[in-house]
Amino acid sequence: MSNYKEHRIAVIGAGVMGTNIAATAIGHGLPVVLVDVDEHVVEEARTTTLNHVRHAQLMGALPADRPLGTLTTSVSVEDAADTTAVVEAIVESPEVKAKLLTELSALVAAGTPLISNTSGIPIDELADWVTRPADLLGTHFMNPTYLIKMVEVIRGPRTGDAALESVADLLTAMGRQPVVVRDAPGFVTSRLLHPMLNDAARIVGAGTATVEDVDALMSGCLGHPTGPLRTADLIGLDNLADSLRVLHERTGDERCRPCDLLLDKVRAGHLGRKSGRGFYDYG
Ligand code: NAD
Repeated sequence: MSNYKEHRIAVIGAGVMGTNIAATAIGHGLPVVLVDVDEHVVEEARTTTLNHVRHAQLMGALPADRPLGTLTTSVSVEDAADTTAVVEAIVESPEVKAKLLTELSALVAAGTPLISNTSGIPIDELADWVTRPADLLGTHFMNPTYLIKMVEVIRGPRTGDAALESVADLLTAMGRQPVVVRDAPGFVTSRLLHPMLNDAARIVGAGTATVEDVDALMSGCLGHPTGPLRTADLIGLDNLADSLRVLHERTGDERCRPCDLLLDKVRAGHLGRKSGRGFYDYG
């Protein structure tokens, strides 16, 4: 039986996912240290995280009988040292993640799970950069994390049983439901979803249908919750393009090559909800 009082986590990266993961954890009573390299992001992170918590409370998605966990924000990765698990949620770049994971594996005690929230970089590729590959695994939290209970957990070929059990216990304490899959580029959810989002943008770029009509058809005819282009805006178009590149380089699947319209939007700084404009305007 999971006891939330036994967990104290660090989340590295305070962007879209870091604040979502932190909100879900403190909402379930866990103390969280939230770290980002960007001082401006750290300044905003507390407000953003607490806004997520309020939204989760309004939706009845948090246990009413637990006090909120404490939230500490920091610009120093060293503040992750004294925790029971570390989740990295930084940019989807194999090089940047490798550097951080090397640093983290020198910092935390042996047996502390190191968790990557990568959308699709194979865990075994990242495992080359840590001193204890048995402690490394993937959790693919979805956005909004505090509303989506299921979490894809990725077991790399070198992930140990102890890390897997400890992370399953952590996720249960956070009110999440883990589903363990094997390692592959994009795992299950990104491998299926991201090429579809890219195709939706490609269809708009080709002039076949408008953004609104693609989303309306996918919602109205196929039951997609918001439509693929609203989903892309929620993910962040820069992150989607990075994830597609990771998939394209590792699978050779041409559907995963980021399409021109997606790249044009990223170049223009229209990154989706987080920048106020993407396929839709949020101003
Ligand atoms: P984001 O761009 O919103 O945030 C990334 C943050 O990481 C930025 O604030 C940046 O300053 C920070 N950062 C970069 N390098 C750092 C370092 N070395 N140390 C500390 N902080 C650092 O990205 P995001 O959308 O939150 O994505 C984070 C991860 O989660 C990615 O791997 C992404 O693929 C994955 N993911 C994203 C979504 C989504 O819906 N956006 C869903 C599932 C998984």
